[in-house]
Amino acid sequence: MTTQHQSPETYTDRVLNFTIPSRSARGRIVRLDAVLDEILSAHDYPPAIAHLLAEAVVLGALMGGLVKEDGAQMTMQAQTEGGVVRLLVCDFREGELRGYVDFDRGRLASLGANPSLFALFGKGYLAITFDRSEGAGRYQGIVPLEGDSLAAACESYFAQSEQVPTLIRAAIHRSGGRVVSAGMLLQHLPDGEEGRERLHVRMDHPDWEHVSVMGGSIRHDELLDPALSMDALVWRLFHEEDQVRILPGAKLSRGCRCTLEHYSMLLDRFSVEERSEMADDDGLIQVDCAFCAKAFPIPA
Ligand SMILES: [Zn+2]
Repeated sequence: MTTQHQSPETYTDRVLNFTIPSRSARGRIVRLDAVLDEILSAHDYPPAIAHLLAEAVVLGALMGGLVKEDGAQMTMQAQTEGGVVRLLVCDFREGELRGYVDFDRGRLASLGANPSLFALFGKGYLAITFDRSEGAGRYQGIVPLEGDSLAAACESYFAQSEQVPTLIRAAIHRSGGRVVSAGMLLQHLPDGEEGRERLHVRMDHPDWEHVSVMGGSIRHDELLDPALSMDALVWRLFHEEDQVRILPGAKLSRGCRCTLEHYSMLLDRFSVEERSEMADDDGLIQVDCAFCAKAFPIPA
């Protein structure tokens, strides 16, 4: 295996991209620490919900950069009717991640410490939307929220909606009050180019079978092990390949678009009458940002 890369590092809060040219495969690994902490600290989530959002955010980091255009956004939305979790939203734009979960606190308490995905959502759906930069269109796929994890549901999104064989692993660890997460995404792109429509997804291509077996052998404790750099992880999985190209990816951060200016601009689209109907007794319109769990009182 030959690699082209900078000095090894653990790439915390940074994506590591790699390709295996002879197998037409590409992958990425990410580990989230401070970014995840910042996202979770805006909320007071019980462990099961923090765990769920941690998984969503690591998936967002893995999938978010797949459309490589300035201003492109990936939004992941898991929702249900009548589930304990009503809605989970996570999005990614230019390396900025954010997310929140709307859930029923009382009913969650009755589920015990480690509720399954089905216990949390019941019959749910996962929608993944790629909004390309201005005017370039949007693509949305919706799949049932099935399997053991959000990662499994994302795999079926790629198989069903994009026809791209994809393996995704996500690992979450809580130590004391702090949650860290890590994940890997691996895809087979036999035609080389990205984003091409395919009529058939071939899951049994020999190159994909090989790469997915190697990649699938990664363990959660390896993904999370800070003593193992992300380069070393790739090496451990794919050292038998002729060539693996390693390319440092985006630096990730926690980001939100909620500002007083942003909401004032949105409210400007309403008429004076509409705005006064929305206002409270003090003449203020309370706009909430669910991502930040923060209210913005804006004069009507
Ligand atoms: Zn916000």
